[in-house]
Amino acid sequence: MRVAFIGLGNMGGPMARNIAQAGYDLTVYDLDPVKIADVTPFGAKAAQSMTEAVAGVDVVMTSLPSPKVIRSIASGPDGILAAMSPGSTWIDLSTNNLDCEREIRELAHAAHIDFLDAPISGGTEGAAQGSLTIMIGGKAEVFARHKALFDVIGGNVQHLGPHGAGYVAKIAQVVLCYLHSVALSEAMMLGVKGGVPADTMLAIIQNSTGRSYVADRYGPAILNGSYDPGFALGLAHKDMALTLELAKSVGATLPMCEQVESIYDQAVKKYGFDENHLMAVKLLEDANDMPLRSAAFVQS
Ligand code: NAD
Repeated sequence: MRVAFIGLGNMGGPMARNIAQAGYDLTVYDLDPVKIADVTPFGAKAAQSMTEAVAGVDVVMTSLPSPKVIRSIASGPDGILAAMSPGSTWIDLSTNNLDCEREIRELAHAAHIDFLDAPISGGTEGAAQGSLTIMIGGKAEVFARHKALFDVIGGNVQHLGPHGAGYVAKIAQVVLCYLHSVALSEAMMLGVKGGVPADTMLAIIQNSTGRSYVADRYGPAILNGSYDPGFALGLAHKDMALTLELAKSVGATLPMCEQVESIYDQAVKKYGFDENHLMAVKLLEDANDMPLRSAAFVQS
């Protein structure tokens, strides 16, 4: 099976490495040549353009920032659909929305190309370990044909139903990451302002009813002031905006999500799209004039 991988960022880079190391005939492309050079030592071939990467392959996988970017690479004479072979498959691993999914699936269908929405969860460590949760929407027989490829990058690979089901499940679960991050920072702020040291407060949360993946995985990145470089603040805000879009289209009222979207929006405006996603917590730290740092970090 010949595979092309487009978008070699925080998630795409490690996924492409795992596919190359599993022995697939893999060609890769990214706008950033440095990202390509990171993957070729693992056996992937570098393409000079996106159309060169996808020409003649059986499967194209994309891991790109936004619906806007995905639309921009899909159609037109320089788009991937014009360069892909009829009978091949496009698997989009990005976090995307239903309008974009419908548009690109229809274009793919007209070009006799199968499409699967297959967004991922598990962070950069899940991508590196090949243990991602992959939520897949699309035809069951197309999923079955690509199950072995999914198993190279995923530890929890689930076909959830028809087209779009993957994107819906991805957004409905990822929203908790941002709600929990904001909730964690407010709980910690309350404790710290009340006189409990930040590291003690996090340890208490990690061993009480308020414990969460976010507290375990991201709490230390708040305490050390790195705000976690594995994911961009602007992409976190994109996920919150997609949540509100999806809520509108399915007729769900989600007041807490509206507030959290506004917090991430303010953080992007204040600190910038490319900052680390936990900079949303810095808004609260700034408002309280109180960084949530561990004593060890403050002393060093
Ligand atoms: P990233 O910004 O690190 O990587 C995106 C890559 O796409 C970059 O290397 C960029 O150069 C490349 N790119 C952008 N436009 C391009 C184009 N037109 N042609 C070719 N390459 C192009 O983002 P990421 O964190 O790897 O996220 C990728 C997708 O996965 C996003 O949809 C994100 O929401 C989702 N996601 C990320 C995480 C995470 O923890 N980082 C977790 C789950 C899902």
